[in-house]
Amino acid sequence: KEFRNSVRPNWCPGCGDFAVQAAMQRALGNLDLEPQNVAIISGIGCSGRISGYLNAYGFHGVHGRSLPVAQGVKLANHDLTVLAAGGDGDGFGIGLGHFMHAARRNMDITYIVMDNSIYGLTKGQHSPTSAFGFKAKTTPAGNIENAISPLQIALAAGISFLAQGFSHDVNQLTQIIQAGIEHRGFSLINVFSPCVTYNKVNTYEWYKEHVVNLEQFPDYDPTNRNMAMLKVAETDGLCTGLIYKDTVKKPLDALIEGYKEMPIVHQDIHIDRDFFEKTMEEFN
Ligand code: SF4
Repeated sequence: KEFRNSVRPNWCPGCGDFAVQAAMQRALGNLDLEPQNVAIISGIGCSGRISGYLNAYGFHGVHGRSLPVAQGVKLANHDLTVLAAGGDGDGFGIGLGHFMHAARRNMDITYIVMDNSIYGLTKGQHSPTSAFGFKAKTTPAGNIENAISPLQIALAAGISFLAQGFSHDVNQLTQIIQAGIEHRGFSLINVFSPCVTYNKVNTYEWYKEHVVNLEQFPDYDPTNRNMAMLKVAETDGLCTGLIYKDTVKKPLDALIEGYKEMPIVHQDIHIDRDFFEKTMEEFN
């Protein structure tokens, strides 16, 4: 199926988000899903525009709130394949609380974060994943805070699927996004997606020198949570590929009685208008 649309992205030439868009289109196409059965919910930031750049339902929400909206969409219509997307500032700054709880709640949603360690849309402030000492408009003398580790936070929160990619490797990115969508439960695909305009440190070249592809470790077992935590620490959070997949934890829908019945959007919900108006009057 065709998940490309005719909208031309207004990202800067060379922005890593182009590769994420391509990988999402390929992954969704490979899974043979129907565009009308897919919803992409995004937050605010350059990356947040992605919900308008694919041929599927799109909702460009408010800053840091892509996951609450995505969970609401999934609850209302569990027949939809729901993806959430955004940047590191959106997801790991203002949206961090939502991220941790979504990870432990384990609804069947795929969350794709385009992590460039900077706020690009607002023209170059340091972000939650900027390294200590990183110089940006807001940190001219160097960042005095440590970068957070989205991977360690995800594992600590009990995430059931965790992978990381790099915009330079669209094939790997397509595979892990596809695997994340196929996974029954909450998945995070964190993507090193360079901001070529404002981040002059974490460039494509820098990532090519520093990322560690997990495929080079034949003994690595992504179903072993302790091994995943160790590998994330050993690689300073720069490992790419499938990092962890929980084979035991059940998705939220398997734990709620009746969830699999007709989606709420298709149910005839009776609203007692008199009761509603009376209640509203009490608040006036
Ligand atoms: Fe991409 Fe950075 Fe340009 Fe935003 S400012 S579109 S993140 S390169």
